[in-house]
Amino acid sequence: MFVLPPQVEFAINKLTAAGYEAYIVGGCVRDVMRLAEPSDYDITTSALPEQVIAVFKGEKIIETGLKHGTVTLLKEGMPLEITTYRIDGDYTDNRRPNSVTFTANIKEDLARRDFTVNAMAFSPKIGIVDAFGGKKDLKNGIIRSVGDADRRFNEDALRIMRALRFASVLGFTIAEETKKSIIKNRELLKNISAERIAAELIKLLCGKNAKDIILEYYEVLEVILPEIKGMQGFDQKNRWHIYDVLTHTAVAVENTPSIPALKLAALLHDCGKPDTFFTDDKGVGHFYGHPEISFKKAKTAFARLKLDNATTELALTLIKYHDTPIEPTEKAVKRALNKITPDVFFSLLDIKRADNLAQNPELTADALVTIDTLGKIAKEIIEKGDCFSLKDLAVNGNDLINAGIPAGKELGKALDFLLDAVISERVKNEKQALLSYLNILL
Ligand code: ATP
Ligand code: MG
Repeated sequence: MFVLPPQVEFAINKLTAAGYEAYIVGGCVRDVMRLAEPSDYDITTSALPEQVIAVFKGEKIIETGLKHGTVTLLKEGMPLEITTYRIDGDYTDNRRPNSVTFTANIKEDLARRDFTVNAMAFSPKIGIVDAFGGKKDLKNGIIRSVGDADRRFNEDALRIMRALRFASVLGFTIAEETKKSIIKNRELLKNISAERIAAELIKLLCGKNAKDIILEYYEVLEVILPEIKGMQGFDQKNRWHIYDVLTHTAVAVENTPSIPALKLAALLHDCGKPDTFFTDDKGVGHFYGHPEISFKKAKTAFARLKLDNATTELALTLIKYHDTPIEPTEKAVKRALNKITPDVFFSLLDIKRADNLAQNPELTADALVTIDTLGKIAKEIIEKGDCFSLKDLAVNGNDLINAGIPAGKELGKALDFLLDAVISERVKNEKQALLSYLNILL
């Protein structure tokens, strides 16, 4: 029915030949059934962990989580997690079961899984085991809790974020009773670690349905990101905008490339707007200085989410400059390339484009053309190998020291001065020309 990788076939055959049951289970079954490539294959089996280890004697085995019944088989470069059928014990912290017990019944293992589409197992001999209507929900594009939604979200509140994430990534709808329970139990997310929330949030934002999920589950996202409070229904009272701040944000996220830092920047780029809003005497809305406020709020949010430094830095830079105009001239582009580096510059254009695509389409045509022009100018500068940073400058610190400039602050100033002169085309980027230019001024 489905073609499985040879390593997966090998593991299932080996376990069944030894008299145990074995299936692929969870996300990989869901993905195989919707004809998508699974990110990894998980195997579930009636064999106890020691029995799994015995079956794969001579193979590369890692005892990943024996207490939870998981053994990893490394077969021809593919890691396969093999987990014994398991029942999760009571949950008292909205996060993890206090204990787990093994069972001989696959249905009990499927019952502990989060959503019906993730609660199916498959083996080439037996076919699909679907105890909770996962097949039907998959066909109809529905995310539905296995069993009582309230109980399941209370057991492990991360499932709230997982529901939103799967809905966004797969383009599915969340079943009505599951949705009600998510809204009701959203505050439980406060018990979940920042790292796990951040991982789900990023996947959600990179999903194809992120816009709809942001709009529909705004009050859930507010729990993990209070920085977005005040966006919903916030009328911008400005002809450039046809959306409230929240819809503008959601549309901007939708139009941003699927790179975590860019999506996060798009999500928070305007969170400072409600704080800076005022109307002038004509009743037109303005948000002067909002990027700086968005930057500050985003900084707090990223620290709380324990985002890594590189993602934080990039997202914050994009937020800071998202509204700063750049003239479509070589000089202005060179200055920008020097200030933020080419990679960040191209990401900034992506954010500016997404921001404009979420404004009044009758007014943004010129801005969008300018953004494309900026990209072309930057590419040309880089292709030509033109100088736009100190490392391209035809003189370095040593040259200037030899020319009599004292090391220290003065030196840095002189180099910046020469770079600016080159970018402004007041002098050629050649060693002699630069040294003579400096001499005139000394
Ligand atoms: P992905 O494509 O992101 O890997 P996935 O469905 O495989 O999606 P995993 O986090 O790899 O998700 O988990 C594998 C399976 O384990 C899930 O399909 C689900 O059956 C189960 N699972 C994972 N996390 C939970 C949870 N918090 N509560 C209940 N079941 C879970
Ligand atoms: Mg997985």
